[in-house]
Amino acid sequence: MSYESKMLEDLAMPSRKDVENVLLKTLFKHNGVIKEFATGEEIVNEIADEFNLKKNQRTAVLERIYRKENRIVKTPLWHRLLYRAADSLAKEKLVSRPTSTILLTTKKEWMLTENGFDEALKLLNIPQTQKEFLPTKSFEVQKIVKKLIETARPENYNPFDKGKKFAKITRESAIRNRGFRQAVIEAYDCKCAVCGLKINSPDSFSWEVEAAHIVPNSLKGKDDLWNGVALCHIHHWAFDVGWFTLLDDYKIQLSSKANNLPNNFGRMEKYEVINSILSRAGTIFLPERTEIHPHKNSIQWHRENIFHP
Ligand SMILES: [Zn+2]
Repeated sequence: MSYESKMLEDLAMPSRKDVENVLLKTLFKHNGVIKEFATGEEIVNEIADEFNLKKNQRTAVLERIYRKENRIVKTPLWHRLLYRAADSLAKEKLVSRPTSTILLTTKKEWMLTENGFDEALKLLNIPQTQKEFLPTKSFEVQKIVKKLIETARPENYNPFDKGKKFAKITRESAIRNRGFRQAVIEAYDCKCAVCGLKINSPDSFSWEVEAAHIVPNSLKGKDDLWNGVALCHIHHWAFDVGWFTLLDDYKIQLSSKANNLPNNFGRMEKYEVINSILSRAGTIFLPERTEIHPHKNSIQWHRENIFHP
C-alpha cells in the first residue's frame, strides 16, 4: 500500500467516488463553476463541511520527496484527494479542467460539461425536463455564449435562420437555446431592458427575466444577440403582441391604441402596465458593448410586422 493510501485509510478519509459525487453536486449548486482548489479556499472548506471532516482530516499533510531535485514537497492530503476526484471526473469528461475553462471564461475554474450536468441532476433527483430553465453553466453552453458575444457584428444582418428546424428537439438545438438565453440574460445583466426589473427565485436558481427573440423563434428568428433582448415576463408578452416596438436609436414606441385604454384596463393596483412602458425617458437599457445591441434589421422587421402603430 502506498504511503498516500495508508494515510487516507488511517485518517478515515472519504472515498474518491464519494468525493466525485459531492463535487458534482457542489458544482451544480454554484451554477456549474467552482474555482480551482489552490485558490478556492471557500470551496475546499465547503466540500469538507459536506463530509463533516474533522480538523486533523482537513490539515493532514502529505510529504513527498522529489528525488531528482532532492527536496520535500508538502501537500494537504484533502486538497490532493479533491484534485484526484476532479481529475478523474475530467477523464470521464464530466467536468472541464481549469486549463480548458480559462480559454472560455478567462478564469481558472472547474466547469460542468453537459454530461456532468446530467449526472448532477441524477444525483439530486432533479428531472431532466428542468434543464432548460436552470441557469447552470456547462462547457458546451459557454462555448456558444462566447461565440455569440465575440462574433463580429454584421453590417447587413438577416435575422432569419432558414435552416431552423422544429420537428424534434435535438441535444444540439437544446444546447443552442440555452446558449442564446444565457448570452442575452448575461449581456443585459439579468435585467428587463424596459423596466429594469431584476429578480430571481428564492433558491436563486432561476431569473425572472427572459431572453426574447425580436423576430420570433416560431418564424425562424435567429438565436443570437442581434435578434435578442432581455425582457421581464410582462414586457416580453407586450413586445410579442405588438404593444410596443423599438426605433433604430432604441427609443421605445408605444402603440397609439394605448391612448384610449378603458378604465382599469391593464393595471396592477396603481401600476399602469401599458403606459408605464414609456416612463423611462424612452430608451431601453442596453449592454455597454454596442456590437451586441439588437440589430436594426431585426427591430425594423418587428416594427413592420408585429407592432400595432
Ligand atoms: Zn419589464
